[in-house]
Amino acid sequence: MKEIDVFRQWNRKRHEYATAWQKRTGGKVMGYFCTYVPEEILHAAGVLPVRVLGSHEPQNVTEPHIFAMFCPFCRDCLAQGLKGRYKYLDGLMIAQSCLHIRQAYTSWIKHVPVGFSYYLCMPHKVQSRRAYPYLRGELEAFRKAVEGWTGKQISDKALREAIAVYNENRRLMRELYDTRKQAEPPVSGEEVMEISLAQQMVDKREHNEALRKLLAALPRRKRDRPAGTRLMIIGSEDDDIDFLHMVESLNKEQYPATFVVDEHCTGSRYFWNDVPEDKDALMALSRRYIERPPCPTKDWEERKRIPHIMKLARDFGAQGAIVMQQKFCDPHELDTVAIRKELEKQGIKTLFLEFDVTVPIGQFRIRVEAFLETLKQEDLF
Ligand code: SF4
Repeated sequence: MKEIDVFRQWNRKRHEYATAWQKRTGGKVMGYFCTYVPEEILHAAGVLPVRVLGSHEPQNVTEPHIFAMFCPFCRDCLAQGLKGRYKYLDGLMIAQSCLHIRQAYTSWIKHVPVGFSYYLCMPHKVQSRRAYPYLRGELEAFRKAVEGWTGKQISDKALREAIAVYNENRRLMRELYDTRKQAEPPVSGEEVMEISLAQQMVDKREHNEALRKLLAALPRRKRDRPAGTRLMIIGSEDDDIDFLHMVESLNKEQYPATFVVDEHCTGSRYFWNDVPEDKDALMALSRRYIERPPCPTKDWEERKRIPHIMKLARDFGAQGAIVMQQKFCDPHELDTVAIRKELEKQGIKTLFLEFDVTVPIGQFRIRVEAFLETLKQEDLF
């Protein structure tokens, strides 16, 4: 479908897109780690934020810089920097989330020249009333640093406009997700993953435009296979398109299955909540990033992530959940047990899979087929 191909192209040609954008606009490109980065401030300064992701290829360049028992995602990201795949970046930044990805960031800025780098101290204890003014202060400092870097003043008006563009993007994405609640969703999980990945690397105004065209075309679309078992995918970072493709291409008579929703940081966790109305734009941003669906590194003392997952599972009618984990990912490993327990308690069977840089498609296929078979058998009784 041509309305989806545009996202696929952006995703596949992410570096070409960013360099062409740079030439076309004369603007700067900021690579970033972690979805706690307040992109709206960058957008308001005319900067393109591009999320750094891995390439899923085996590599041998990170060993001197990062322990092999750090998660494969952060090692894969660092490898991209060391191999010069992001050499067009004008800047690189991170907002504090987990130690693994911070190590990727600090190794990168030490070993790969980059014009500007920034560490944003996103608080861990978001469930404190002091987190709001604290983060607001950090955002103010970040705004000044970006002004100094770009030589452009970021007015409140520009900030508000950026917030409006981003909120619209989030609203359109939620609208797209809503179509997946249908008995026969018009889009596959793999296609949605292409769209949500592109969302994190292209200009949001262009992404909005493409989303509007897609949403207008979707009511006429009928997929050529039945939805089958409705699956949810839960985890940390997940851009394993090949895995989703494999699951959704299994024999359609025997094992039809479709991912109808996700809860991970390259999917719904990235865009689920809006920046609220607030006269103070920086406080509005502070509220948004503090109150967003949490990463496990910030989900304490009250654990808010699990009820959020359960609500998504219910709203989208998930029958089974694949709980994926990046090998050695401590924050998510700690959450997985409780998540699986709660899902199973609510009658949603789970399959746990551990992911590495490359995806063992053959091995995973057998495990997914066995899982779908179990769900089918349960339906018979
Ligand atoms: S949260 Fe997990 S997957 Fe994400 S960077 Fe940290 S260790 Fe890796």
